[in-house]
Amino acid sequence: MFLFLYFCDMYINVFKFGGAAVNSAAGLKNVACILKKFRAESLVVIVSAMGKTTNALEDLLKNYINHDPLAVVESYQKLRDFHFSILEDLFEDKNHIVFGEVDSLFNQLRGYIRKGHLFSNSLQSYDFEYDQVVSYGELISSAILQNYLVEEGCPSTLFDVRELIITDSTFRDARVDWKTTESLVQKKIRGYFQAAEEPGPIALTQGFIGSDHQGNTTTLGREGSDFSAAVIAWCLHAKEMTIWKDVPGVMNADPKWMTDSVCLETLSYREAIELAYYGASVIHPKTIKPLENANIVLRVRSFADLDLRGTSVKNIHNWKIPTPIYIRKQNQMLISVSPRDFSFILEENLSEIFRILADFRVKVNVMQNSAISFSICVDADPRKVAPLIAYLQKDYETRFNEGLELFTIRHYNADAIQRVVNGRKILMELRSRSTVQVVTEERSNRVTE
Ligand code: ASP
Ligand code: MG
Repeated sequence: MFLFLYFCDMYINVFKFGGAAVNSAAGLKNVACILKKFRAESLVVIVSAMGKTTNALEDLLKNYINHDPLAVVESYQKLRDFHFSILEDLFEDKNHIVFGEVDSLFNQLRGYIRKGHLFSNSLQSYDFEYDQVVSYGELISSAILQNYLVEEGCPSTLFDVRELIITDSTFRDARVDWKTTESLVQKKIRGYFQAAEEPGPIALTQGFIGSDHQGNTTTLGREGSDFSAAVIAWCLHAKEMTIWKDVPGVMNADPKWMTDSVCLETLSYREAIELAYYGASVIHPKTIKPLENANIVLRVRSFADLDLRGTSVKNIHNWKIPTPIYIRKQNQMLISVSPRDFSFILEENLSEIFRILADFRVKVNVMQNSAISFSICVDADPRKVAPLIAYLQKDYETRFNEGLELFTIRHYNADAIQRVVNGRKILMELRSRSTVQVVTEERSNRVTE
């Protein structure tokens, strides 16, 4: 009975370290320090690929597709050197098993490319191949961190997340099979904590990746490690989840843009989900729902300064708005469509336009309609937008403006709007009680001083 109560009350905490936290030997040493400090709890640690490894693996794949073997070798070698130089700095013993483990992961990656799995006759889709290649970033970083933690006297066990997070086969954007995942995470991770003889065991695993029911590696979408952590936190009914970042917490504006931005001490789940929706890059949009559903407190704090308390996101009914919150999206464009025969924009046109947008995988950031025209603000990604415009032009009068910015201000006031618009021409403006969105020309196109 006592044991039963003890397990029910198990205080499980989930930590997620992104690429910036593990981009160097010093970064990994800092992660080990943080883990030692918080070791008193049952801890699950989710780690991303080191630094910009995911981008580098994407480049490697691109070189492969472009049939550029020299560039493939070069990008492979660069990645290998990057990881091995971190290993050299971290491990004094050059015969340490970690060198062999990482070597073998790199050999697997090279073998995968060499054997011509990629785009050979047994060709699978690009998305499938992407996941098989890009997942090595997390497999390698987790192997390195695991060995380093053991070396540092921090007891931990590495779990292959492909045996925990089970997804469908939508490669590059896989959907979690919650039921299967929950039972595997409960069995393996909770089981591991329950069996631990001393308090403070660490279960280490990879972010971003999973496995489909056939055992193929899948990924959950770029920047998906926060979501992986939330999935595992949900499965374990964890008390808290902490995302360790290179910023002090969730700020009311990007500090690179507004030098007087401040850290928000608390946020309601609702506010956090709204911010993620409008494009605040500090929170991954899918992350909040599982945490809210299981009432798990999310902390966002700095791995560089442990004295800072960061932001906690939780269930707060009357969240007191401390300040306007600004989200800026650059490189936007506005597309306006009108039926050629001057007919009204009605439901049929709108549903057709939305179907076209979905087909071209163009995400709408803001939209507005008048009697005979419908306007959308989208990221100016020429690969997606140029064919979209060409297609729309067949049936609709289509106009567009480039070189724009989209500002979203939550809990706005007149000063806040004035501050971002600052005399620039406004092309679109949308206001609700809590949010204003303005599309303006970029500063270089400023019309009035
Ligand atoms: N490594 C993956 C990426 O860069 C996942 C993540 O970092 O969250 O997108
Ligand atoms: Mg990342």
